[in-house]
Amino acid sequence: MIPPELRKLAEALAADAELALVGGAVRDELLGRPHGDWDLATALRPETVLARARAAGFRAVPTGLQHGTVTVILAEGPVEITTFRSDGDYRDGRRPVSVRLGVSLEEDLARRDFTINAMAVPLAGGGLVDPHGGRADLREGLIRAVGDPLQRFSEDGLRPLRACRFAAQLGFRIEPATLAAIPERLDVARRVAPERVLAELTKLLTGAHPRAGLEALRTSGLLDLWLPELAPMVGCAQNRHHRWDVWEHTLEVAGRVQEEPGLRWAALLHDAGKPGSRMEAAGEVHFHGHESRSGEIAEAILRRLRASNHLKQEVLALVRHHGTHPEPAWSDAACRRFLRRLGEDALPLERWAAFRLADQRAKGIEDPDRETRHGAVVARLAALAAQRPPLSVRDLALDGSALMAMAGRKGGPWLGALQAELLEAVVEDPGRNTPEGLAALAAARLARSGPPPGPRDPRPGR
Ligand code: ATP
Ligand code: MG
Repeated sequence: MIPPELRKLAEALAADAELALVGGAVRDELLGRPHGDWDLATALRPETVLARARAAGFRAVPTGLQHGTVTVILAEGPVEITTFRSDGDYRDGRRPVSVRLGVSLEEDLARRDFTINAMAVPLAGGGLVDPHGGRADLREGLIRAVGDPLQRFSEDGLRPLRACRFAAQLGFRIEPATLAAIPERLDVARRVAPERVLAELTKLLTGAHPRAGLEALRTSGLLDLWLPELAPMVGCAQNRHHRWDVWEHTLEVAGRVQEEPGLRWAALLHDAGKPGSRMEAAGEVHFHGHESRSGEIAEAILRRLRASNHLKQEVLALVRHHGTHPEPAWSDAACRRFLRRLGEDALPLERWAAFRLADQRAKGIEDPDRETRHGAVVARLAALAAQRPPLSVRDLALDGSALMAMAGRKGGPWLGALQAELLEAVVEDPGRNTPEGLAALAAARLARSGPPPGPRDPRPGR
C-alpha cells in the first residue's frame, strides 16, 4: 500500500528508529477508501528528520518544529512527519501550551482525537498497533473519542466539529457518549477560529454522507452555535409541492448535488430564507421572495466564516437563481434574458440545471414527467445559448468607442445607459445586433434624449 517514493523516504529516515504510518491514511486504507495526505509518526527528533530527509535529497520544510512536525514534499503530495509526542495542558481551547517529545508510540496515539484515527502501522513491520479499538469501531461505523470525551472536547473545541465531519465523510455514527459530550462543551467549541470552522464545514458538506454530518451538527447543538440562521428551517412545513419540511428537503438536496464546495454550500443555504418568507393565503403556503432572503442569509454566514470571494460568488449565484422555473410558454427572448442573468452571475447553464434538478427531485413528490420537462427546458436554453446571441455589452456589434464617436461625446453614465438599452433591444431580437442596426437605434435614442450638457460644451469665460 505504500508508494515507492514514501518507502525510499522511510529508509532514508529511520534505519535505527521507529517510524509508523498514522492517522487518516491508516484509517482510509483499512476502509479501502482513497485517502488524502500521508502522516508519519517517529521517535526521531524533528531536527533529525529534517537533516536526514534533506541529506537524501528530499525537499523538507520545518512546518512546526516546536510541535515536532516536518513536512516532506513528494511527487505524491506532502507527507507530514511528526515526532511522537504527548500534549501538555490546553488553555485556549485549540492548542496545547506545550508538547513533550520523546514519548512512546502508545502515548502518541493516546493524544489523538478518535479511535479510528489512533491506529498506527510501523514501517519496520509487526502489523497494526491499535490500543483503543479503532479497528472494531471502523467495523461498527463508530466515531468514538479516545479516552473521556468530555475531557477531550474541553482540550480542543475543533474535535466536535471533526467528529461531525468524519460522520459525513465516512457515513459513520458518533458513539453516544461522544455525541452527548458535544453539547456540554459548546463554550470551548465557540472559540474555534471561523476559518477553521469553514474548512471543517466544507469537508463535512462535500463528504459522501452530508446528511449524517448535518444531522450530527443539529442534534449536538453545533448548528445553533455556528449557523443559527438555519435553525428555523427545522420543522418549517411547506406546501403540497413538498413532502418534507425545509430542513429535511435541504438534507435531500445536499445529498443529490455533486460533492463540490459551491454546490454543497448552495444546497445548505438555498432555502434558508423560507421560514422568514412563509405566508399562508387561501389555504396555501407560499414563500414568495425567499430566494433573495436566502441570499442575504447565505452572504451573512459566508462572510462571518471568512469564505473566499470565489466561494461566496458561486454560492450566491446558485441561491439567487434556484427559484427560476423557465416554462415552455416562455418566449425565446425571455429565455435569452434568463441566460443573460445567469451570465451576469457567471453561473454556467449546466450548473444551474444540475442544481435545479437536484432541488426538484428532493421534493419527495412523485412527478413522472419531471425529468422530461426539465430535459426539454434545458435543451431549449442550451440550443438558444449555442446560437451565441449577444448577452452582454461586450457582445454588442458597436463598442463603446464607436458609440462615443457617433455621439461626439466622451464616456460617462450616458454611455452605460445607452449600451444597456441597446443590449435590451438585441436580447429581444439578436438580428438587430449589426453595426448599422445599432447605429440606427443609438441615433434614435440620442435624438430622443437630446444632447445633454457634457465636457465638450464650451463654457463661457473659459
Ligand atoms: P484527513 O487528512 O482525511 O482530513 P486525518 O485524520 O488524516 O484526515 P489530519 O488533520 O490530517 O486528519 O490529522 C492527522 C491525524 O492527526 C488524525 O488522524 C489524528 O490522529 C490527529 N489529529 C488531527 N487533528 C487532531 C485534533 N484536533 N485533536 C487530536 N488529534 C488530531
Ligand atoms: Mg491526514
